[in-house]
Amino acid sequence: MCFFNITKGKNAYIRVKFPLIMQAAVKKIQMVDLIGQYEKLQPEIDKAILDVVRSAAFINGPEVKNFQAEFEKYLGVKHVIPCANGTDALQIAMMAMDLKPGDEIITADFTYVATAEVIGLLGLKPVLVDVYPGTFTLNIEEVKKAITPKTKAIVPVHLFGQCAEMDELMKLAKQHNFYVFEDVAQAIGADYTYPDGKKVKAGTIGHIGCTSFFPSKNLGCYGDGGAMFTNDDELAKKMRMIANHGQSVQYYHDVVGVNSRLDSIQAAVLRIKLRHLDEYAKARQKAAAYYNKAFANHPKIKTPARSQHSTHVFHQYTLVLEGADRNKLREYLATKDIPAMVYYPVPLHLQKAYKDPRYKEGAFPVTEHLCASVISLPIHTELSEETQSYITGAVLEFLK
Ligand SMILES: *Cc1c(COP(=O)(O)O)cnc(C)c1O
Repeated sequence: MCFFNITKGKNAYIRVKFPLIMQAAVKKIQMVDLIGQYEKLQPEIDKAILDVVRSAAFINGPEVKNFQAEFEKYLGVKHVIPCANGTDALQIAMMAMDLKPGDEIITADFTYVATAEVIGLLGLKPVLVDVYPGTFTLNIEEVKKAITPKTKAIVPVHLFGQCAEMDELMKLAKQHNFYVFEDVAQAIGADYTYPDGKKVKAGTIGHIGCTSFFPSKNLGCYGDGGAMFTNDDELAKKMRMIANHGQSVQYYHDVVGVNSRLDSIQAAVLRIKLRHLDEYAKARQKAAAYYNKAFANHPKIKTPARSQHSTHVFHQYTLVLEGADRNKLREYLATKDIPAMVYYPVPLHLQKAYKDPRYKEGAFPVTEHLCASVISLPIHTELSEETQSYITGAVLEFLK
């Protein structure tokens, strides 16, 4: 029993439909389908890029200012300061806080390396804490234990698309007088609801929010890009100065800065994609709901737990496998041309570059367990139910 369904589109491809075991989708499944997304916006994007080229306003052109203003409006924040990438955003934010070597910065052990990297580069002391096993965000009780008189800042990472428990963190910050800056690279567009019902955008709660426009992020450009946001006029001024060689007046350098800019072509692309960000989040949420339903109540699969205070924009759709071999599942999916990724395979405290006698193996049991058992499935704005059915079918077949 089989049937053929031959589709010829612009990128003519042939999809041959067989019963699951033999199914071969010729259009390659991807973790993120940036080409499919581009094709829908192509005339608009092509024109915007060409307009920049024709104007030759490549650096600090009007597109950068326009994007900045539109992004401020979208986020409901006073200042957006564009920069060259998300790692720079974290570094510039930290430089703006006038910290001294040895000052302690608390962050999550289960995350992308960038946060710990800039802490290390600036001679500050990273203090790692474990995360919640369900939402993968900073465990507040662990944060409380890690606070010392030297704690100067805390960097919650809104991992995979939903916010850490910001209300609790802001209370601690007030009580102990330290800064909070949000790494919102994976959760741009998520809404955070305070206990009193007030709703704000992820990244605008702490003193500073930092994001990345890396192409595969939910709001991605066509190269590198990043931004800091804040409601604090002083911090905004300082970050703008640091990102611009430490000058606020040209050729007068008040502090040692860096050179970190978002270029005009990237800003032009971002202006267009920003208009679609909420609709992109909805597409991702829909795809996540499909996966959740397919995997519901499976004894070996834990679907992503949801924070009570944050919407989830599913930068990643990440399962925790219990009693099944994550690596073997990944290999099995690869034989069916289904990509799957492990974010992240090694906890920060076990990375060679960040080894520290304070943290031995077993120091962060939740993170260590997650690193051994998480697997992220393809999720993006162009995912069809047909493809998802193929993916979930293969996962369930392996775990049978
Ligand atoms: C992508 C990412 C970064 C770094 O962004 P770049 O633009 O690649 O420098 C930082 N933190 C998190 C959580 C990220 O996902």
